[in-house]
Amino acid sequence: MQKMQTNSIAAVARTLKEADSILISGHVMPDGDSIGSTIALGLALGKIDKNVAMTSPHQVPDIYKFLPGSNCVQQGMPEGKFDVFVALDCSVPDRLGDELQSLVNDSVTVVNIDHHQSEKPFADVNYIDSNSASTGEIIYDLLKEMNIELDKNIATNLYTAIASDTGSFKYEGTKPTTHHKIADLLQFDVKVAHVSKSIFDEKPIEVFKVLQIALPTLEVSNCGKVAWISFDLMAKDRISAKDEHTEELVDYPRRIKGVEVALFFREISTGSVKVSMRSNYFVDVNKLAARFNGGGHKRAAGCLIDGGISDVREQIVAAAIEAVQRGSLND
Ligand code: 5GP
Ligand code: MN
Repeated sequence: MQKMQTNSIAAVARTLKEADSILISGHVMPDGDSIGSTIALGLALGKIDKNVAMTSPHQVPDIYKFLPGSNCVQQGMPEGKFDVFVALDCSVPDRLGDELQSLVNDSVTVVNIDHHQSEKPFADVNYIDSNSASTGEIIYDLLKEMNIELDKNIATNLYTAIASDTGSFKYEGTKPTTHHKIADLLQFDVKVAHVSKSIFDEKPIEVFKVLQIALPTLEVSNCGKVAWISFDLMAKDRISAKDEHTEELVDYPRRIKGVEVALFFREISTGSVKVSMRSNYFVDVNKLAARFNGGGHKRAAGCLIDGGISDVREQIVAAAIEAVQRGSLND
């Protein structure tokens, strides 16, 4: 199929309506937006009798296993052929992981639904709304466009997707329309307290063990505006922590008063470091991450860098300090 240059939710709806079999996937190291959006769209397309498969490059993290339909999400490339492959919450094919990104150059029609800024949409049919705080909100709009009725299970997944990516409606991207959509979803008896407890409050013991090891690594730059925390492979081996248990570590440096850029360095294998970047007020960390082949949003971004953790840390901290200095001048 020819790549369409238009950015049209109607074209996405049409493509899905015309398909019989549809595969849906979110991104590597999936978060609540990725998983919730995948399941919500999968359940909704099932309701209009599509043959749907839901997958994820990595396993559904334990904290999202309470989601209705999470047991239908497979891992990696499923068997069989599909008419359409829908990539969710992925700004570039890399975010689908090694296996699933091969579908982007395959004969299957690829649909991309996302809320990250993208200079060059990669799919055959794209709908990218970088004003949306979450992919979940776009899925809500898509289901309205397709006249698919919501129900409790779909609403619970969409609520989780939106609550996750807005930090429980606290982040800058939260808009009146976000709350209008949430008000509609709550009419389907979403158990808000249960969702909040599951995704924000209750944590497995490993999260606290990770914190015990990681907090002593917290450092702040001389200027007081950049702070970072690290988690290396040795630390990971000391406790049986999974990636998902380290997800919120970046919030500790971010919450220090006066800090503008917070960084989290996680060694994922020897010679490979995942960097999470957050900013509080003015630094565009999407641009900072892009310098290292990563991406994301203005206030939350990330990248994957080859190198030892100390070298990577030195390089990124220096770039962050420079970005803060440049940003301060423009203020
Ligand atoms: P996190 O730090 O929580 O993993 O990711 C924060 C944001 O940055 C998310 O919006 C995510 O999509 C984006 N992001 C994280 N890592 C990467 C990466 O390696 N490449 C790109 N393009 N985006 C990333
Ligand atoms: Mn998202």
